[in-house]
Amino acid sequence: MAVVETPARYPGATWAESPHHWPGHKGRKAVVIHINEGHFESSIAYMLRTGTSAHFEVGADGRIAQLVGVQDSAWCNGLSYHALTRRWVCPHGHVVSPSWDQLDPADENPNWTTLSIENEGFSGRLLPPAQFQANVDLLVWLGARFPSLVPYTVGRTLIGHSHLDSVDKARCPGSGVSLVAGGGGEHDPGGGSADVAGGVGGARGAAAGRAGRVGDPAAVQGVGAEPRGVRGPGDVSLS
Ligand SMILES: [Zn+2]
Repeated sequence: MAVVETPARYPGATWAESPHHWPGHKGRKAVVIHINEGHFESSIAYMLRTGTSAHFEVGADGRIAQLVGVQDSAWCNGLSYHALTRRWVCPHGHVVSPSWDQLDPADENPNWTTLSIENEGFSGRLLPPAQFQANVDLLVWLGARFPSLVPYTVGRTLIGHSHLDSVDKARCPGSGVSLVAGGGGEHDPGGGSADVAGGVGGARGAAAGRAGRVGDPAAVQGVGAEPRGVRGPGDVSLS
């Protein structure tokens, strides 16, 4: 049974209501980060036109639009479970191999248990500092509303679309958006990058011009590296 509450809006967002959502949710297990492969306005228009939605759309300049209240479930991370074959299938009908360890057939569809942040831009390109910071600020706010999300742990409570759909979404959000401190593997843009989880931990320090931690010292627990703030364009990527 879904929990139904009053839609909640991020104070820093423009409200761009989408009818494409389910009321309520089944507990928040993760925030999923996406890349548009497109631009801010056109991506919002695309979602409205195609019957999809994300909770948030973040622009390259850091502006944020909210399409769905955080107490409702957007249609961005859909998978369905086929009990007969015990496989997860994406909306296009492809069998996928999700690496997210919180995926549970009992939840029916990860749209019920996840929040989604879409980002203007293209897979493989680094996010500008303002966009990176907007993601960090949003994650801090979401973490305060949903304690089940924090401390953010990459692969568990903070994931990319590729953690759910290894076929069609293998490059979402892609190498320009690192979730893991210090990068690593295909997500390593060459060192010196900031990362989402570290950014959340380092938000206060970043504001003061150096890395630090916000609130709970365990904010980046499980990420496996020191939190780093946003220092400059050369240091910034979410990957
Ligand atoms: Zn995606």
